[in-house]
Amino acid sequence: MPSQLNVLLFGPQGSGKGTQAKRIAAEYDIPHVSTGDMFRDAIATQTPLGLRVKPILDAGELVPDELTIGLIRERIGAPDAHDGFVLDGFPRNIAQAEALDDLLGELDRPLTAVLEFLIPDELCIERLLGRAADEGRADDAPEAIARRLEIYHRETEPLSEHYRSTGKLVGVHADRSMDEVWAEIQQTLEQAVPA
Ligand code: AMP
Repeated sequence: MPSQLNVLLFGPQGSGKGTQAKRIAAEYDIPHVSTGDMFRDAIATQTPLGLRVKPILDAGELVPDELTIGLIRERIGAPDAHDGFVLDGFPRNIAQAEALDDLLGELDRPLTAVLEFLIPDELCIERLLGRAADEGRADDAPEAIARRLEIYHRETEPLSEHYRSTGKLVGVHADRSMDEVWAEIQQTLEQAVPA
């Protein structure tokens, strides 16, 4: 049976997980599944979903679970995700993690590794303010950054408890350079993938 690489990343905004998720996807030739990117695409092309979620993203709040879970179910079932996926930005809370457990159980596709990006808030804020200056993302305004970090600690950080018991959880030291973080991730994935 061919081995799949089903990877999940979580960490605060500004932890560099989007960059590393793209790198994993390119290296292992599996799709990068980012709910944030999917919502931003929907907003850019002004689909009904995009119009509905724009004010939510602008404020740095979370999109309702049922919309998000539906998107993931569809995306993971697509043919290009057959050999694996890198989930980035989903799940964002325990309800989404439980929905994902159910979905992956149904599909008989266990997670290979869960990477938690560990980094102090101050460094995230510094990086996000830099990105706001470069890219002008509305949700990188200072109030929205604070709101997203607060939501992260309250809603998303408890995922580490959720995944610890699976034995798949690995902490990534995300306060280092991009290449150092990448080396750590590669080492983890090489160990996690069955030969
Ligand atoms: P991100 O690019 O992952 O930081 O996501 C940008 C924004 O999209 C978030 O601040 C949320 O408004 C929304 N979003 C992305 N993923 C999720 C999710 N799994 N659940 C709810 N909202 C999400």
